[in-house]
Amino acid sequence: MPTHRLYYDDAYLQNFEARVLSCSPAEPVQGASGPQSAWEVLLDQTAFYPSSGGQPNDLGLLGEAAVLDVRDEEDGIVHIVDREFEPGGVKGCVNWPRRFDHMQQHTGQHLLSAMFQERFGLPTVSFHLGGEICTIDLHGGEPSREQLIGAQRAANKVIFEDRPVGVRYGTREELERLGVRKEVERDGLLRAIEIEDADLQPCGGTHVKSTGQIGMILVRGCSKVRQGWRVEFVCGWRAEQIATEDFERDRVLMGALGCALEELPAAVERLAAERDVNFKSLRGALQQLASVWAAQLASGAPVGANDARIASLLLQGAHAELLQPLATEIARHERTVALLVLEESGQLVFAQHPTAGKDLGAVLKSVLAAYPGKGGGNKDFVRAKLADPRSASAALELAKSLVAG
Ligand SMILES: [Zn+2]
Repeated sequence: MPTHRLYYDDAYLQNFEARVLSCSPAEPVQGASGPQSAWEVLLDQTAFYPSSGGQPNDLGLLGEAAVLDVRDEEDGIVHIVDREFEPGGVKGCVNWPRRFDHMQQHTGQHLLSAMFQERFGLPTVSFHLGGEICTIDLHGGEPSREQLIGAQRAANKVIFEDRPVGVRYGTREELERLGVRKEVERDGLLRAIEIEDADLQPCGGTHVKSTGQIGMILVRGCSKVRQGWRVEFVCGWRAEQIATEDFERDRVLMGALGCALEELPAAVERLAAERDVNFKSLRGALQQLASVWAAQLASGAPVGANDARIASLLLQGAHAELLQPLATEIARHERTVALLVLEESGQLVFAQHPTAGKDLGAVLKSVLAAYPGKGGGNKDFVRAKLADPRSASAALELAKSLVAG
């Protein structure tokens, strides 16, 4: 016997009484502290909505038992609960804030989909109600900014008009005559949700009774998906919450940047431009420093085997961007090798004038064999980063002995 679905007749029913038809052990359910025992309960009737059609299942209580999941299966609606039941009567209580949220999101989805379809010819191919964000997938070209805002505004207008949302039953032909939005493939008596003068759509879910209860729709984003465009949106309490969070973020940014709300975009653009200018001038300054310092290091470097000068340095507190220009500048001097390691990060750059005649690629390989890290290069120039910066000094000493040998 199929379970009588009380939510079909009254989506606002929170408390109900039912008869337990069966209770049997179920697969353990993943709880907060690992797998927990669970039972499957079938009732003669229920107000619990099972996961289906893009709307997640309800939670709540059956007697003393917590309802962990609700599934629509062949035998009827299966309630997964955390304790065993005796046959007999039981009282059910639906977690109402969760259900009402789903009703707001779901009814809002009907309305938003109808506006995309009616105004811009963009049909909805699927719907997902997530824990934070809801999405509809639109078929067709990329919706413009104007279309996204246009559909949102049109939907909010219908919300503010507080139009009735009703249920209609009819055959496929009857619904098609009434102008149902989505093609219906099923036969028999069908259930459809009607938003007065706005939408008619076959659906087995739960919905608010008038559009005013959706509260507000906010479109939050749009991105490409495999077969179309995914529009993110929120309704009702979620819209209120997300708008509050937006304002909190703006407030923090206004404080940090010392400007008014409407000045935020310009202030951020200015910061980014300043950052770019500063970075350029920093590079210029580092290059100048590298030239001067390189001359000093090259001339003071001890002479090793084959008359090669070895300028080695363990840099402390230096800018990482200095490493490469400094090594390159040192290596401009004939028969000179530069071995530079940054102490804090374990970054290293080795470079040589070709007349120095070493193989720095081989040197790096030996260094990394002793002190692991990632890097590479060629005979005259290599760079790498040691996995453990604490080996910076030892790695430099090893490189020095290898080059001197
Ligand atoms: Zn629906």
